Amino acid sequence: MLKINEHYLKLQASYLFSDIAKRVAAFQQANPDKHIIRLGIGDVTKALPAACIAAFHRAVDELAVDSSFRGYGPEQGYAFLREAIAKHDFQARGAEISADEIFISDGAKCDTGNIQELFSADARVAIPDPVYPVYLDTNVMAGRTGAFADGRYQGLVYLDSTAENNYVPKLPNEPVDLIYLCFPNNPTGSTISTAELKTWVDYAKANKALILFDAAYESFIRDESLPHSIFEIEGAREVAIEFRSYSKSAGFTGTRCAYTVIPKECAAYDSAGNKQLIHPLWNRRHCTKFNGVSYPVQRAAEAVYSDEGKAQCKALINGYLENADLIAAAVKELGFEYIGAANAPYVWIRCGQDSWEFFDLLLNKAGVVCTPGAGFGRCGQGYIRLSAFNSRENVVRALERIKAALA
Ligand code: PLP
Repeated sequence: MLKINEHYLKLQASYLFSDIAKRVAAFQQANPDKHIIRLGIGDVTKALPAACIAAFHRAVDELAVDSSFRGYGPEQGYAFLREAIAKHDFQARGAEISADEIFISDGAKCDTGNIQELFSADARVAIPDPVYPVYLDTNVMAGRTGAFADGRYQGLVYLDSTAENNYVPKLPNEPVDLIYLCFPNNPTGSTISTAELKTWVDYAKANKALILFDAAYESFIRDESLPHSIFEIEGAREVAIEFRSYSKSAGFTGTRCAYTVIPKECAAYDSAGNKQLIHPLWNRRHCTKFNGVSYPVQRAAEAVYSDEGKAQCKALINGYLENADLIAAAVKELGFEYIGAANAPYVWIRCGQDSWEFFDLLLNKAGVVCTPGAGFGRCGQGYIRLSAFNSRENVVRALERIKAALA
């Protein structure tokens, strides 16, 4: 008799965004003429930058001719892209990262979800609350938690991110081995200063722990004093892995391209207490389970670093940030407390009532879809997230409708 991995049975009924989709579908069915504006899921709405499209076309044409055709590429990614990343995303900011420490993949979701496979089943895991659900669910699937009770999985250390700590969690009071951090944060839009991030790096060094730093929203940072990478922090190379994605920085959510940075010194320990480097193990995993991102997609990603590509991506991000500013101004006018928008495409709003009730209110009265904060963890109860990923016209219309609905 084949037995199931029972850890999967602990997972909460459905993924947050499926719950939202079901409610929106039911509303649309009941109100077929109502136009719904989606400021919920963090999917981009604007076209790919022209430089990426041109590179994409050129690469497709190369595949049309035997002499320039390419089959399987290197699992870790083509050197042209890894070198461009090392130079532009890290060395240009004084972070010492080389091309062979970069692994190209088809998404930060897969990478942040898969990385935990490298660590022992009894690793003590610290996860922020509220959180991007992937970190949590993949650790549940791997059996690192007990049952779900009272809004939380037993056996995890939750890092509360609340108004009291300005949405930057404090160091844990109990020992942990694996720490997930995400800045600029999804869902709160909060950021971390260099000094605060240094305390986490120092903690990881002192406790032989490892930080998994998700920087998927790095390109939204406007405040020049903020770190873009954990590798801008002294000592991070031994104790951190960083995840980046072209999804939000260049509109690649459907195109799929991301990368993970694992410095050569970065290590965990075997049961005898010996240091084991992570880079060769991730390389082994990547080559066993992944066959690389397609050549045209990697050429399109490379174009992000051309002069035109940089300018076009900046314009794309600025457009979303201006939407975020409009949302923040409207929310302020309505008298709600909020965080985010300044360096992120999200606005995290204290709605003063149950998150799902407020979600239903916005959907039913304004035809606007938000994301209920409770779906991101217990600390998200009483909050909603509005996303800036939509057209200016839709954002302006949604804000007018929200103002009218709450008047
Ligand atoms: N990490 C965070 C914090 C995210 O919010 C998202 C997507 O919303 C991802 C990772 C996933 O990115 P990708 O599209 O590269 O899988």
